[in-house]
Amino acid sequence: MPADTLPPPPQHGGSDRRPAAFLDRDGVINIDHGYVYRQEDFSFVPGVLDAAADLARMGYALVVVTNQSGIARGYYTEGDFHALAQWMRARFAAAGAPLAGVYHCPHHPDAGDGALRRDCDCRKPAPGMLLAAARDLNLDLSRSALFGDKCDDLRAAQAAGVPLRVLLGKDGAAMPQDACPDALTSARHPSLAYALADPALRARLLRGGVSPLPRGRAPAG
Ligand SMILES: [Mg+2]
Ligand SMILES: [Zn+2]
Repeated sequence: MPADTLPPPPQHGGSDRRPAAFLDRDGVINIDHGYVYRQEDFSFVPGVLDAAADLARMGYALVVVTNQSGIARGYYTEGDFHALAQWMRARFAAAGAPLAGVYHCPHHPDAGDGALRRDCDCRKPAPGMLLAAARDLNLDLSRSALFGDKCDDLRAAQAAGVPLRVLLGKDGAAMPQDACPDALTSARHPSLAYALADPALRARLLRGGVSPLPRGRAPAG
């Protein structure tokens, strides 16, 4: 699976695995104009960089997981995707929200005519990108969260064992349009910034983001 990630950190025991905030890209980070691959078409959803920095301060590793079937369809190339991802990473880093990883699925089961036209285990709703990130980045999926604008984003998180699954609107202003089952959906907000401003959701995020006591070591007294 293609992954645009930092080198994996040294392997540690389970107790210091980090929780991740998984972010879908189109509709969550940038306004989804459809098959965005050029910097000039990439408009950040209002408040997303500040909200991501907020998540980073809470202790979340920020990981982008994005379906990019435009590559299988021949609309743009892997190189186009990576160039835009590199620029996007720099913007996040400058905002105090460095991305721990950017994972994308270039495949589609029945679009295009090349080697990327196939069933794969990375296209959401499959959990492959999240599971790969967990291995590469030493993540604790059971304390992680996902923010997406489609039910398939939330389904991928559910399949990966990510308990907090937030459905967002597509343009940063309106509530989500997709009607995802309640059992799949922890909360619904217009955007990541709105989600982070919600006290109840913040409380849940803070519980996940704070490292628990190391297992097997009781507090003194
Ligand atoms: Mg999306
Ligand atoms: Zn794939």
